[in-house]
Amino acid sequence: MSDEQLLFVNASQVVTCQGPARARRGGEMADAGVRTGVAVAVESGCVAAVDTMAALRARYSAAREIDCEERVLMPGLVDSHTHAIFGRPRFEEQEMRAAGLDYMEIARRGGGIHSSVRDLRERSEEELLSLARSRLSRLASFGTTTVEVKSGYGLTLEDELKTLRVIDRLRRELPMRIVPTFLGAHEIPLSHRGSAADRQAYVDLLIHEMIPAVATERLARFADVFCESGVYTVEESRAILTAARSAGLLIKLHADELTPYGGAELAASLGATSADHLAAVSDAGIAALGAGSTVATLLPGTMLFLGKAKQAPARRLLEAGVPVALATDFNPGTSPTPNFPLMLALGVSQLRMSVAEAVTASTVNGAAALALSDAVGQIAPGYSADFALFDIRDVRELPYWYGDNRCAITFVRGKPCHTSHLGLT
Ligand SMILES: [Zn+2]
Repeated sequence: MSDEQLLFVNASQVVTCQGPARARRGGEMADAGVRTGVAVAVESGCVAAVDTMAALRARYSAAREIDCEERVLMPGLVDSHTHAIFGRPRFEEQEMRAAGLDYMEIARRGGGIHSSVRDLRERSEEELLSLARSRLSRLASFGTTTVEVKSGYGLTLEDELKTLRVIDRLRRELPMRIVPTFLGAHEIPLSHRGSAADRQAYVDLLIHEMIPAVATERLARFADVFCESGVYTVEESRAILTAARSAGLLIKLHADELTPYGGAELAASLGATSADHLAAVSDAGIAALGAGSTVATLLPGTMLFLGKAKQAPARRLLEAGVPVALATDFNPGTSPTPNFPLMLALGVSQLRMSVAEAVTASTVNGAAALALSDAVGQIAPGYSADFALFDIRDVRELPYWYGDNRCAITFVRGKPCHTSHLGLT
């Protein structure tokens, strides 16, 4: 953090997302707080004021000015769902899927999540660190300033802790804000698939060894479970998440991605911070989320990349008053994109969200999905000066130039985090 005073001036628009420090829902999501003719003052790494340039120049006469050159300044994007720690990319599977091979056949040919598990177990902490460092810098280059990173390709105590230590080192080393999540319940490891007793032994390992170790070493803020037919049952998920919560971790859930399985209802009943995916959420699941405080994190890039026609029922979730967030699901199998603005494009074109809804879902509600509502996701007094400056004149261009990278520069705590060739002159 720097004590320096900064003034961000000459933005064509400042997208403030200003409002209460909690997830937005319903009509609240339709207002992204777009302002013209204002500047932003930053002091000690935090937003001090949003006001006219003349007013702020008078109040902060010693401030260094940053000329936004008639571009759009907005809160740095908050990517609340990634699996960014992995070894080799699994590009072969894309052609296999195109040729009609299903998940089981791809796994039989050595692909799928278990191939990422085998690969990660063979790699050192240093190797994983160096791979993740360059991948996270790709995410940052698209305007992301806060990123959640999950473990989950280790599936042994040792390999899960190794993954979380890599995330912890990245958190200390990189300017991006990184939120670690323990996902030892990403899959049932191959070593525990023989019998019901084997399977129960892994659930016991999660509850009695892994979660206590992760909590004691303070290596994760969240615990997550893949609750899905063929992976973890609702009852197993409930037991794992309850243990995690007792150990002091916040909880999330991969819910109802492929089949309506009761994941959304479970997330709501446990008061989970977020329920993620939800492409197959049931009416009862939507109602349960609407009545609670869990954020629905939608991952439209995953369905696009897998070639699925179906997307999460975003409009029905929004109409039921569910706070909706967007995220990349960056991972080597089903969503290998670092491009968060592309998720806004898909949010508008596939999920039928308005631009304001997609922007709110990618900032304020992403922050809420990480229990960071009072720290990031808004350009408002007291919030961290985590910004993305995009080379566009109107925020509606952000989802429009789909696939392009218009991010000129990002700031975290008032300091440049990533600069592109479009950067400030
Ligand atoms: Zn995921």
